[in-house]
Amino acid sequence: MTRLAALALTGLLASTSPALALNAPVARAAIDAQLTKSYPGLDALYRQIHAHPELAFQEKATAARLAKEMRALGFEVTEGVATTGLVAIYHNGPGPTVLVRTELDALPMEEKTGLPWASKAIQDWNGKPSPVAHSCGHDIHMAAWVGTAQALVAMKDRWHGTLMFIGQPAEESTGGAKAMVAEGIFSKFGKPDYGFALHVGGGPTGEVTWRAGATTSNSDSLDILFKGKGGHGSMPATTIDPIMEEARFIVDVQSVISREKDPAAFGVITIGAIQAGSAGNIIPDRALLRGTIRSHEASVRVKLHDGIKRTANAVAAMAGAPAPEVTITPGGQAVINDTALADRTGAIFRAAFGQNAQLQLAPSSASEDYSEFIIAGVPSLFFGIGGYEPAQLKAAAARGETLASNHSPQFAPVAEPAIRTGVEAMTLAVLGVLGR
Ligand SMILES: [Zn+2]
Ligand SMILES: [Zn+2]
Repeated sequence: MTRLAALALTGLLASTSPALALNAPVARAAIDAQLTKSYPGLDALYRQIHAHPELAFQEKATAARLAKEMRALGFEVTEGVATTGLVAIYHNGPGPTVLVRTELDALPMEEKTGLPWASKAIQDWNGKPSPVAHSCGHDIHMAAWVGTAQALVAMKDRWHGTLMFIGQPAEESTGGAKAMVAEGIFSKFGKPDYGFALHVGGGPTGEVTWRAGATTSNSDSLDILFKGKGGHGSMPATTIDPIMEEARFIVDVQSVISREKDPAAFGVITIGAIQAGSAGNIIPDRALLRGTIRSHEASVRVKLHDGIKRTANAVAAMAGAPAPEVTITPGGQAVINDTALADRTGAIFRAAFGQNAQLQLAPSSASEDYSEFIIAGVPSLFFGIGGYEPAQLKAAAARGETLASNHSPQFAPVAEPAIRTGVEAMTLAVLGVLGR
């Protein structure tokens, strides 16, 4: 522990250090006093959003509800940004501009949490009706985002500058952040000097985690159409079986991970969908496969793409089949946190949360399009908060089990401690750069 961090932990903050200009424990107590008043409203907001989730670029009611909350606080709100996004601005004297982002969207899946306010929503997904659920915790983020705005407005005598609160559509399909940047939000509303976003995960509630540099993974999606020659299932010699090509590919492509990539470097290839054939006695003439490719380093990303293409072409050549159509679509780029901002905010987290402030050792394998705001030039910190009570985690560990992760139909972070910690951490992060 550094001397400054030790001082921070005891609350004796060095006013000479810009990193510790904020008395974090005192500020946290003020945020908690505000939360005592505001939490019931935030809980009601979380439950309403959870029960009525909306898919990417369809988040109309969600965005309207958040716009109403922000207007009530005195923010100037612009709706319909990048279809369903919103930008809420609050001026409070001269000073830097700080971006705080929440996502608005939910996932095309059925919720199985058993919560009394579980979603029963159905929406259109790729032309078909699909159940919809907030199984990534974006409902928690929205409540924490509104709670942070409430706390900052209540504490406006303690900071000066401009808040730019962004409600981003379509994080899950990774098109929303890019669309907002492409619509020119930073030329219309000003370029933020700093940016923050948070994500709830499966760690203990009360915990805040962060790291400098790479924090999430590059994510690319993979589509391969294997081509063959259809025919009767009893006469394979008259056909070229694309299901055999697909099966070989699925097994062999993992050797790109185990034999070609540096074992110490992160890389994942997952095939999540295979679609081929209609009956057991028909060899189809084509087979489709969809997957996701994850990496942290650009060189690994190139190696995986190259290995996938070689393997796909090789299995087709082995079968005497036409070359397959391989489509790799770049998705979210890795979130690279700003080192100076991570250090500065991390010192504040340590001062406020003590042992519950944890430096994250390795980047996450998950992906996030918050990176688009960073690529557009906003130095940022994307950090994590825990979602399960420590007792729940302990009990699961004793049973030799792990609790449901994000994107599981059972993912159910405990709202109150998660939202409270989200509000505390995000408000402290903003005060760290705007505080007097
Ligand atoms: Zn997600
Ligand atoms: Zn998410």
